[in-house]
Amino acid sequence: MSDCIFCKIIRGDIPCAKVYENDKILAFDDINPMAPVHVIIIPKRHFSTLLDLDAENIDLAGDLIAAAQKVAEIKGIEGRGFRTVINCNAEGGQVVFHLHMHVLGGRKLSDELG
Ligand code: 5GP
Ligand code: ZN
Repeated sequence: MSDCIFCKIIRGDIPCAKVYENDKILAFDDINPMAPVHVIIIPKRHFSTLLDLDAENIDLAGDLIAAAQKVAEIKGIEGRGFRTVINCNAEGGQVVFHLHMHVLGGRKLSDELG
């Protein structure tokens, strides 16, 4: 999508601090980190929200999880622990409408989910 900020990052129109990449996925540091480690993982194909994954492309959810494992290893937080979050739509707190998973860690996270 031409006006999507994360599609612009994939195209290289907007720079990012890349953490991990494969043929389907790109992971980069969040520009406004909420924790010492805060990485955004996105599919290279544009989906607006979690709800747009259907039977044909639901495997991407596994690709996001596999990328989260890689990111946790790369950032050295896999043993200490971390949190993965996918916000969906307004009350879920989604601001950027290109499906993405947050990986948060590097400090003790709140027991509250929101
Ligand atoms: P959401 O609230 O949609 O789940 O999260 C969007 C996340 O994307 C936010 O944590 C925000 O800081 C991050 N973000 C927004 N624009 C940019 C950007 O241009 N570059 C990077 N690296 N992160 C961004
Ligand atoms: Zn997009």
